[in-house]
Amino acid sequence: MSVPTVDDVRAGLDRVRDRIEAAGGDAEKVRIVAVTKGFDAGVVSVALAAGVTDVGENYAQELVAKWPSVRTTGASPRLHFVGRLQRNKVRSLAGLVDVWQTVDRSSVGAEIARRAPGATVLVQVNVGDEPQKGGCRLDDVDDLVAELSGLDLDVVGLMAIAEQADLATVRDQFDQVRRAADRLALPERSMGMTADLEAAVGAGATMVRVGTALFGPRPGGAIA
Ligand SMILES: *Cc1c(COP(=O)(O)O)cnc(C)c1O
Repeated sequence: MSVPTVDDVRAGLDRVRDRIEAAGGDAEKVRIVAVTKGFDAGVVSVALAAGVTDVGENYAQELVAKWPSVRTTGASPRLHFVGRLQRNKVRSLAGLVDVWQTVDRSSVGAEIARRAPGATVLVQVNVGDEPQKGGCRLDDVDDLVAELSGLDLDVVGLMAIAEQADLATVRDQFDQVRRAADRLALPERSMGMTADLEAAVGAGATMVRVGTALFGPRPGGAIA
């Protein structure tokens, strides 16, 4: 499945919904964010035709090249930015992104507040303290949420990417994120990807971010 068809994506959505249900989640309530990084605007259109309502992108440059043409088709999916976010990229993204999932420091939050006042954001938590990953430390999340709220951003939840580890570790990391979100009274928890969505749903994910499960392997070696 190099270029996925509408039927492929529909079948992928059905499989993801089955997995959510099998993990004890409610497939009507857990939002599926279809991650289209590495695929062109044509694949985004295919995804929308298959019923996708929420789309995730990782790379600012790719998003800016791809999304103006999606927006002119009249389609209005919610666009989530799920990649590493640099302050100097916020300006070019501001007119396109609906949900900023990877805010991990106040300087980035301040720039979002300046370019897209009142924007919907999630705070990314680096729950495994992995040096190569974005996200704030779990110990710092309360302060960051307070700062972002003070900037009049609409902080709706936490986002995390679990370590590639054994199931017990992954599950424990998702539990930690869920507990932090509960403590902060944040309703959304964006956790789980193709490989670990059951653990995330079991721990209370309200959004899963899936690429491979819907579209197959990414072309051109976009791995992360
Ligand atoms: C690429 C990516 C995904 C989707 O990954 P799959 O394994 O293809 O489901 C989800 N979240 C983030 C942050 C990603 O970078």
